[in-house]
Amino acid sequence: MEVPSRQLFIGGKWTSPKAEGRLQVVCPATEEVIGSIPAATAEDVDAAVQAAVAAVQAKQWTTSTGAHRASYLRKIAHLVKERKAALARLETLNMGKPIAEAEWDMDDVAGCFEYYAGLAEALDGRQGEAVDLGSDDFSCRLRREPLGVVALITPWNYPLLMVAWKVAPALAAGNCCVVKPSELASLTTLELAGIAAEAGLPPGVLNVITGLGGDAGAPLSAHPRVAKVAFTGSTATGKRVYAAAAGNLRPATMELGGKSALIVFDDADVDKAVEWCMFGVFWTCGQICSSTSRLLVQESVAPAFYAQLKKRAESIKLGDPLSPDCRLGPVVSQSQYSKVMSYIASGKAEGARLLTGGGRPPQQAKGFYVQPTVFTDVQPGMRIWKEEIFGPVLAARTFRTEEEAVALANGSEFGLGAGVISADPERCRRVSEALEVGICWVNCSQPCFCQAPWGGVKDSGFGRELGTFGLDSFLSVKQITTYTSDAMWDWFPQRPPS
Ligand code: NAD
Repeated sequence: MEVPSRQLFIGGKWTSPKAEGRLQVVCPATEEVIGSIPAATAEDVDAAVQAAVAAVQAKQWTTSTGAHRASYLRKIAHLVKERKAALARLETLNMGKPIAEAEWDMDDVAGCFEYYAGLAEALDGRQGEAVDLGSDDFSCRLRREPLGVVALITPWNYPLLMVAWKVAPALAAGNCCVVKPSELASLTTLELAGIAAEAGLPPGVLNVITGLGGDAGAPLSAHPRVAKVAFTGSTATGKRVYAAAAGNLRPATMELGGKSALIVFDDADVDKAVEWCMFGVFWTCGQICSSTSRLLVQESVAPAFYAQLKKRAESIKLGDPLSPDCRLGPVVSQSQYSKVMSYIASGKAEGARLLTGGGRPPQQAKGFYVQPTVFTDVQPGMRIWKEEIFGPVLAARTFRTEEEAVALANGSEFGLGAGVISADPERCRRVSEALEVGICWVNCSQPCFCQAPWGGVKDSGFGRELGTFGLDSFLSVKQITTYTSDAMWDWFPQRPPS
């Protein structure tokens, strides 16, 4: 597939932006312009929201059964699978992740639509659920209804997967969606719009607007006809989006940044622990919200661990992300490259010890490539320990006791994920309970399943995606309470007129 030139997808039609603007798409591996996406502005956002409002008012989608909606979700999953190779290639060209990862993402996208098709079918069986009121005179039943028009705003690191995590449950619940993907990686989301149309989704049920955050995302999150905003992105943008939603008194879910810790105890198998440590920070070039970018390794095992980590990090296959054996591609953009490099410079300047990496790979003449980088002896006050870098940079330090490890891990403004690696299950249980996070991995880091809830605490946001939690966050629950007694209510006793 060449890079298709698409328009905005509004009310079931490809629609040029009112201001006729387009944004260039730059391939991060070659720095070449490979295409363009439409640049929506507030007028286009309004048109997309109005199209979704019209679809809500038509009631065809919102009042259909879950089983009916599931059939569309399954068709979408089928088409994604059928086009997996082309979609994965487009994702890699657009944001630089290795093709093997992009193919994995497409499997997960299809799997997510299939999973929520199953939950949409099960939703029919949950309708009319009885509530025990403890009363002989009243009965109560619950009805789960869609919210209406939902605004879905996503980042660039898992472009189509982050969209699927929102669109699949939102549609399963019967909502009509306006999606705003990241301007840095919108290509596959525009393809999804075409796939949804092919699957026969009624016009207006899924609308896609692309463009800059300030021009397209801001008016969407502030639109008064939007019933809920689901946002994934940085903590700074999340605060703006949450404030905009609050201005209309609308609910929001916030999946934000992180600085997750991986704690490795001295009873761990070093080979396995190093492998998970590397997967935790170098997978997707470290551009993962839950990346375990802080390593806490127990003092006695640190020398062996660091020696192995250095050797293995230096052997990572880095280069053309379209090559099937590539394991580290470029970061997404020039500005992300500069940001990561400035963090590396700050690590050096603040006195952390550079174990490996720390610059641009000499063999890559072009592209936004950064060497897999590990700093040790990192102090909690250093920027590379505190701030989200979103690149292949690990900040490591040692600890002596379990209490010290937990305190260091929790000493972060973020609370998305964490991992603990130890041969002692009881210690793993204690530590996982003590960590202030929404996602805790034991003897691994990063594996993610659409059946399990995803989300964080503290500055990593609130609300949960995925699992049944993900579906329920797109549903409103209505109680229908019926007076079942034949007797007169008789609070205001009938009296003869005075
Ligand atoms: P970002 O915050 O820059 O952008 C996210 C989205 O918000 C984009 O679509 C952008 O156009 C839009 N946006 C920007 N300004 C806006 C505004 N004023 N109003 C409304 N929308 C606006 O984030 P990014 O750089 O695309 O993604 C990286 C960030 O995402 C990292 O911080 C990462 O941790 C986070 N992330 C979190 C999760 C999670 O599940 N918690 C998952 C993936 C990424």
